[in-house]
Amino acid sequence: MAAKITSIKGMRDLFGAQLRSWRRMESVFSTLCLRRGYSEIRTPYLEATELFVRVLGEHTAVVGKEMYSFVDKKGLPLSLRPEGTASIVRAYIEAGLPYDSPHARFFYMGPMFRYEQPQKGRQRQFHQFGVELFGLASPAADVEVIALAHNFWRELGLTENISLLLNSVGCGDCRPAYIKALQAALQAVRDRLCADCKERILTNPLRVFDCKKPNCQAEFEHLPKIIDHNCDACRSHFGEVKRGLEALSIRYRLDPLLVRGLDYYTRTAFEWRAEGLGSQDALAGGGRYDRLVAELGGPQTPAIGFALGCERLLIALETAGSSAPASSASIDILPLDPESQFLALKLQAELLGATSYTVTVNVSGASLKTQLKQASKNAAQFVVIIGETERRSGEAMVKTMATGEQKSVAIQDLTRFFPLLG
Ligand code: AMP
Repeated sequence: MAAKITSIKGMRDLFGAQLRSWRRMESVFSTLCLRRGYSEIRTPYLEATELFVRVLGEHTAVVGKEMYSFVDKKGLPLSLRPEGTASIVRAYIEAGLPYDSPHARFFYMGPMFRYEQPQKGRQRQFHQFGVELFGLASPAADVEVIALAHNFWRELGLTENISLLLNSVGCGDCRPAYIKALQAALQAVRDRLCADCKERILTNPLRVFDCKKPNCQAEFEHLPKIIDHNCDACRSHFGEVKRGLEALSIRYRLDPLLVRGLDYYTRTAFEWRAEGLGSQDALAGGGRYDRLVAELGGPQTPAIGFALGCERLLIALETAGSSAPASSASIDILPLDPESQFLALKLQAELLGATSYTVTVNVSGASLKTQLKQASKNAAQFVVIIGETERRSGEAMVKTMATGEQKSVAIQDLTRFFPLLG
């Protein structure tokens, strides 16, 4: 036998019950977004590497270690997208939308790629749903985006198992002074930090807060907090965001250590954690990024968004006991000779038109016994048996699989018979 080829580490196939849950998540999310005026955007999976270097920052783990980057046949440095925001901002600017429709709402769903060590809830190809809202600087825009995610959890029956963490990471006016204060404080405890954190003091000091090592975490408590260095405008913005969330009865917890690793966030930053995810408990995260459109060559345009991880959402749903939706009611037509196969395919089209059942035709040419076995493996609710005898008499045999009950039904009446069952 030829050697088998397996999938790439950290990249998984999706099918069966998992994919049914997945499609339910997609359908709930897209309906929820569309009904709130968000339109879908699909951008290419490959982008110029420079896009991610500029957006995420050279000294982030994503750009430094985790991107799938290569040079194409013309020598262009390209990368598989590790996240969605950079591409969407690029597309928004490229289409001239900041000038045409300064208030734009987008949602997206699709695969992202990061070369990380796979573990529960962490894949190399993973999938995100997200939204981006452009052109609105008001605190109410932050509340709108957070409320959208909150409603998504609610529609999936998850609110009890999820907590929202909130922080304000300041802006271009107040952050530089904070970074200086942070760097000075980090230098003072440098010897007690891990090698990664030591390196970050100069390259990307905010990222130290992402370190999970207990020794480093113990130091963080005493470091200056960004929230205490917010300027008046940031403080007032954050106060309004909190007031808005309270008005909508959305519970949150302030987390002064939540900075979200990426350089582009300004002001509001948030993250949802979910039960059952173990060490990878960040289910979704996002924030305001008021400088990014301008940094990528567009006009100054405020923006805010979030992204959630589908693999982690699936685990959270399983933990919360929300099972995959059952596959839809189905009919298997079992033809017993070639002539009946054609009649069965004709009937399939008629039944699909007249009912909402899933209808399949077994064109294997196998014996009735084998076809019945296959139908029960497919979890068919009904089978319709058509052989030469049935064709002659004009009556097919309909069997209810759960009870074993059989009934003769005129072939021409089948489209009326099944809707009656219901
Ligand atoms: P981030 O852009 O890192 O904030 O990611 C947003 C969300 O995507 C996270 O909260 C996770 O749910 C999900 N996510 C990020 N990286 C991975 C990964 N390697 N595997 C699975 N999900 C991920």
